[in-house]
Amino acid sequence: MAIVNDEVDAVVVGLGWSGSIMAMELARAGLKVRALERGEDQSSEDFAYPKPADQYGYDKQYKIFAKPKSAAVTVRHTTDDNALPTRQWGSFCPGNGVGGAGLHWTAVMLRPTPTDLKLKTYADETYAPGQLQEDMQVQDFPVTWDEMEKHFDFFEKVCGQSGTTGNLNGEIQPGGDPFEGPRSNPYPLPALEDTLNCSMFREQATKMGYHPFSNPSANVSQAWTNPYGQNIAPCNYCGFCSKYPCLNYSKASPQTTILDALKLHKNFDYKTNAEVVRVDLHDDKKTAKGVTYVNENGEEVFQPAKMVFLCSFQFQNVRLMLLSGIGQPYNPMTGEGVVGRNYAFLSNGGVTMFFKDKEFNPFATAGATGVMFNDVSPRPGFEDGVKYGFLGGAKIHSSQSNGNPIGTALPKDVPGWGMGWKQGMRDWYGHSMKISITTTCMSYRGNYMDLDPTYTDHLGNPMARITFDWKENELKLQQYLKELCNNIAREMGPDISHDSFLKPDSHYDMRPYVSTHNVGGAVMGDDPKTSALNKYLQSWDVHNVFVPGGNAFPQNFQANPTDMIGALTYHAAETIVKDYIKNPGPLVQA
Ligand SMILES: Cc1cc2nc3c(=O)[nH]c(=O)nc-3n(C[C@H](O)[C@H](O)[C@H](O)COP(=O)(O)OP(=O)(O)OC[C@H]3O[C@@H](n4cnc5c(N)ncnc54)[C@H](O)[C@@H]3O)c2cc1C
Ligand code: SF4
Repeated sequence: MAIVNDEVDAVVVGLGWSGSIMAMELARAGLKVRALERGEDQSSEDFAYPKPADQYGYDKQYKIFAKPKSAAVTVRHTTDDNALPTRQWGSFCPGNGVGGAGLHWTAVMLRPTPTDLKLKTYADETYAPGQLQEDMQVQDFPVTWDEMEKHFDFFEKVCGQSGTTGNLNGEIQPGGDPFEGPRSNPYPLPALEDTLNCSMFREQATKMGYHPFSNPSANVSQAWTNPYGQNIAPCNYCGFCSKYPCLNYSKASPQTTILDALKLHKNFDYKTNAEVVRVDLHDDKKTAKGVTYVNENGEEVFQPAKMVFLCSFQFQNVRLMLLSGIGQPYNPMTGEGVVGRNYAFLSNGGVTMFFKDKEFNPFATAGATGVMFNDVSPRPGFEDGVKYGFLGGAKIHSSQSNGNPIGTALPKDVPGWGMGWKQGMRDWYGHSMKISITTTCMSYRGNYMDLDPTYTDHLGNPMARITFDWKENELKLQQYLKELCNNIAREMGPDISHDSFLKPDSHYDMRPYVSTHNVGGAVMGDDPKTSALNKYLQSWDVHNVFVPGGNAFPQNFQANPTDMIGALTYHAAETIVKDYIKNPGPLVQA
């Protein structure tokens, strides 16, 4: 017989970015809220100076990430392959514990464009019938720019986002991104300082007619007090940021921006080492009665709740829906069902350039330091997509997120170990910079998620299975970007350069790190036949279950996802507080 807790108004599963935002907004509305987090409690103080930023521990041994033994997924390229479990993290690495991946993200924080939100409409208007891959399943987000703008604006104020405004109420501003959607307010704080690679890239990109701007960042450039009254300190460019918790209270994270204020609400509490294993439904399967979790003693506990919020990161959200029987599982053979549909990821690549006479001081930098341009993005007026036959684009950037000695870029002829490596480090450490891409990734009929029939997790429940491979569209985009980045690099005149891009016949490789930007699988939409959630992230099938996270994206845009994840969570929270709690039921009639 399971232990039974007292009932709450809202149970929030996972206390990362989306869980913290949702819990805060519901607690502010006076609801009794309980968060259940599978990992440990973690506060900013746990990692503050003089604690060391130990590269081996954080970056190589993933000491604050989810352990594969408890959070693994299985991966395969096609339905003909056997999926194998991730025994160590590679192309993505999910977070764990209070703060989730928000504790150790890089904090490049930018919005999608208005076209990204309406990609299907754009594709239909821009490409000739039959020009795009037949199995592509792109969809519009069911929200408009105007609906979302105030939520981006608020979340960016919560984070003390730092950057240069490009479009203020429709007026293009100097130095910013001219292709961004109209903002109602400037960035809360000015951009981070340029490092040498930034100014070199900015100059070259401008010369070639592109429109570079500083990477929008949630490593805050100046002291900031956010709308919840939390104070964030200016970043000191410590050089140990991406994959590290901040030692200086300067990176926007659930800890630095929300949690201390949230804990002041007496109607909020949270439990750690509480791993949710399913959402429990009433007999009619139309509403949830709560969730079951396993506590630190290995006991099953039932948590009754009037509303359930799955905020456990993209693939755990999809998995919990499948384990709980919420929504019809997707079948790639028939195209029917929605849970698991449209899993997408992103690809990266770039050109590394070595300059004998330049000293880049890579150790003095913030995680998000860099300069990017957005000229190569789907939008009216971008013609190369049609010309080269791909849908999508990339942000092209020169970022310098760290100067970590292990894994530092060296010319290809330098050996990977021994005396030769030591000499290579002496000759080249600090003399390289990179031009990189962060790409879109479309959704396809055959890229999806389901429950693995063979492998189970440490509690005996099926792992999530990801079936995913690169498609012709993404590989064409990579060849186009390869040429574009090499053109810029050539003009910059390095002593040595080498590139790394996907080849026309590449397959998805789970081993090298790309980014933890997994999306889709429980997407939002206007039609319950092609989406698991409505525009308020509410399950079409079980109306008191809401699922914020990257899972809601119908495909991946070229911006990093967290600004959109946060804004969507605020968008849903607003309507839940305003309408749902007074009148529980479907917020959108199908
Ligand atoms: C190294 C790294 C760098 C990144 N850099 C960027 C960047 O520069 N820009 C950007 O936009 N994004 C970046 N991201 C991605 C960003 O961190 C995520 O988009 C964001 O954290 C997602 O928020 P979330 O709330 O969905 O998940 P998370 O913040 O990961 O929170 C999910 C929480 O749920 C908990 N959980 C999972 N399963 C269960 C369960 N069954 N029961 C209870 N709790 C559970 C987890 O432990 C975790 O705490 C980066 C990620 C990583 C790892
Ligand atoms: S670079 Fe700045 S934000 Fe990042 S960990 Fe260091 S001090 Fe914190």
